[in-house]
Amino acid sequence: MVHVNGLRCRECGREYPADPIYTCEWCFGPLEVAYDYDAIAAAVTKEKIAQGPLTLWRYSDLLPVHGDTAVDLGTGFTPLVRADRLAAELGLSEVWIKNDTRNPTNSFKDRVVSVALSKALEFGFKVAACASTGNLANSVAAHAARAGMRSYVFIPADLEQGKVVTTAVYGGNLVAIKGNYDDVNRLCAELAGVYEWAFVNVNMRPYYAEGSKTLAFETAEQLGWETPDHVVVPVASGSLLTKIRKGFEELHKVGLLDREPQVRVSGAQAHGCAPVATAWLEESDTIRPVKPATIAKSLAIGNPADGYFALDVVRTTGGGFAAVDDDEIVEGMRLLARTEGIFAETAGGVTVATLKRLAEQGVVRRDERVVVYITGHGLKTLEAIAPVCGPTATIAPNLDAFHEAFDVEEQ
Ligand SMILES: [Zn+2]
Repeated sequence: MVHVNGLRCRECGREYPADPIYTCEWCFGPLEVAYDYDAIAAAVTKEKIAQGPLTLWRYSDLLPVHGDTAVDLGTGFTPLVRADRLAAELGLSEVWIKNDTRNPTNSFKDRVVSVALSKALEFGFKVAACASTGNLANSVAAHAARAGMRSYVFIPADLEQGKVVTTAVYGGNLVAIKGNYDDVNRLCAELAGVYEWAFVNVNMRPYYAEGSKTLAFETAEQLGWETPDHVVVPVASGSLLTKIRKGFEELHKVGLLDREPQVRVSGAQAHGCAPVATAWLEESDTIRPVKPATIAKSLAIGNPADGYFALDVVRTTGGGFAAVDDDEIVEGMRLLARTEGIFAETAGGVTVATLKRLAEQGVVRRDERVVVYITGHGLKTLEAIAPVCGPTATIAPNLDAFHEAFDVEEQ
């Protein structure tokens, strides 16, 4: 059952029908889905959710599409693993990793795309499209294949090979643009005015963005219907961060949490593309667009659509921000892999390095229960880490050579 009243402008509050539209006609503010929370509260229980599928569709009462007509590759309900070795290394007591590398195309984007394309089918669209820094490209191509839709996926031409191949394999149109993500995004906004396609992050954006809330729903359920004290979230457009907070608040609103959530939200950006972190550090309300130059290409959005909203969430919840450099990103990837056996892409390196910084600064406190969102798999960004990850030794195939290379005492 869908409990949607319509769309509402995030700036001026004007209401619209639930159509494939994304901007307020009056103030040009972004639109978001408005729910009937009383109806959701009456429909949803912890028991009903527990009996649902082991995917994000267990929360379909809180989403803008019907779960039973969904474009489903099995997205969601990814592991939340306690990370004691990482916590010890950072001087923290309780850290959890939400491992979204385990989604069908190995990133959290499967959450937003499965919601967006399910809604697109409901609207009757035949073609799926998107502007992407890579993970979204993988996911749109895969879900379009699954849904029997045609697809046009637009990416910056300098993207990592691991993201190009893993998009092209699904057989849709993959268009490499000679420019950065912001150029790609601008072109897609123009194309959206010309073609009647479902652009997941343009005209489908209000529905698409809702998929991110399921990260908060799962986190709370997996913690026994409790919320963390502090979450650390990577920031590209800023949408993920704002929706994770919205997800926790919605659970309380519909009666699934006993206490009002008090979750501090911190944001992670790469130094080479840190428009939101910079505004936070400079205590400014103005997010100045930047030209990205970072190995964390999935976060390389120089003009983030939800940057201001993300900044506001971090401020009002008492979180923090860090902008970490490329060396810290690589070290963050290695730290997570070495301590917990989880291989994250560069964005995960940004998030872990930010956690480390914020722990050192005392922004993330030792007594807090912390959840860190790892949003994409390391195999997608091998280029970033290949120079520092190779064989420990290369030797001839005999015992002497091994003994020469390794002075091992234990048997
Ligand atoms: Zn408005």
